[in-house]
Amino acid sequence: MKKNQWKVVITDCDHGFIDEEQKEFDRIGAELILAQVKEEDDLIRVCHDADGLINQYAPLTRRVLENLPKCKVISRYGVGLDPVDIKAATDLGIIVANVPDYCVNEVADQTVSMLLALVRKTVFFDQKVKSGQWDFRQGRPIHQIKGKTLGLVGCGRIGLEVAKRILSFGVSVVAFDPYIQKIRRGIRLTDLDTLLKESDFISIHCPLNESTRHLIREKEFQKMEKKPLIINTSRGPIVDESALIQALAKGQISGAGLDVLEKEPPDPQNPLLKMEHVILSPHVGFYSEESIHELKRRAAKVVSAVLLGKWPKTVVNPEVKGAARAILFPTL
Ligand code: NAD
Repeated sequence: MKKNQWKVVITDCDHGFIDEEQKEFDRIGAELILAQVKEEDDLIRVCHDADGLINQYAPLTRRVLENLPKCKVISRYGVGLDPVDIKAATDLGIIVANVPDYCVNEVADQTVSMLLALVRKTVFFDQKVKSGQWDFRQGRPIHQIKGKTLGLVGCGRIGLEVAKRILSFGVSVVAFDPYIQKIRRGIRLTDLDTLLKESDFISIHCPLNESTRHLIREKEFQKMEKKPLIINTSRGPIVDESALIQALAKGQISGAGLDVLEKEPPDPQNPLLKMEHVILSPHVGFYSEESIHELKRRAAKVVSAVLLGKWPKTVVNPEVKGAARAILFPTL
């Protein structure tokens, strides 16, 4: 097919394939470039004449965006928008959209699987048995899950799915979420200090932004009275990692399940890699074969919608509408 005048750049992508995106941009006749860049100068160099971007982790800062005069839309692979300076995009007339709900079940499953693995010491026993040691007493103490309290920091789509699953284990659920007033039956809304005090398990499900960066730091660990297990499948920097390491070393918390870290991948000397009560996974929460195909298809469709003059459903800066660079057709 003859290529249209449009150029779309995927700034970075660690999925290993771009068939879904290619299919979508072939359909509308746009050129697609997979750049795999993460530094500001490289982003400016490869994206300067792009009409649309699809972004994973590369930092789309104000400086980068100010140097992309043709860019009409940024589509983020995923829910979190932390790599994109949304205020700058809005000031420049660039529509920003995400794919908010493609992996809610996957992340909830990842969270609960980490929680169960920590409580039942699954990874610990696996390593012992494979090294020839067959002795359940090595894992003592293990406590019952039923009757415990899970505290959710953030109770949106993923938090709610975690709650639904964990309630069936006979666990009480409390949630701290300053932006919701009403919550489904079985969950009690509370303030952060009460959650920290009462919870046996704490799971993080709020977005990363300036008000949640290091939301859980030394002061918060000191308020945890029940030596809880901490699960973070949201974003690493919500938890102050050095305070977390200290809290683990001092026994203020019993263990941690981390799908996300402050620095990904971690430095080889990161103490978390050697801690027995810590289980780690490589930011895999979003992934299943089903969810990754859906993510890629929907991220591409956001860009093609804008290039074709349509307003995508998942725009996160709707205030850009009047001043958008894109030519948008009125909806009938
Ligand atoms: P969501 O927007 O549905 O829910 C987030 C909730 O956090 C909202 O209810 C919001 O009110 C609440 N919140 C905002 N600020 C808060 C604060 N300061 N304190 C407490 N709560 C606060 O989002 P979601 O779909 O549930 O996703 C949650 C996060 O999970 C995303 O932001 C993303 O960072 C992360 N995520 C991780 C993976 C992964 O692969 N590990 C995949 C998808 C999403």
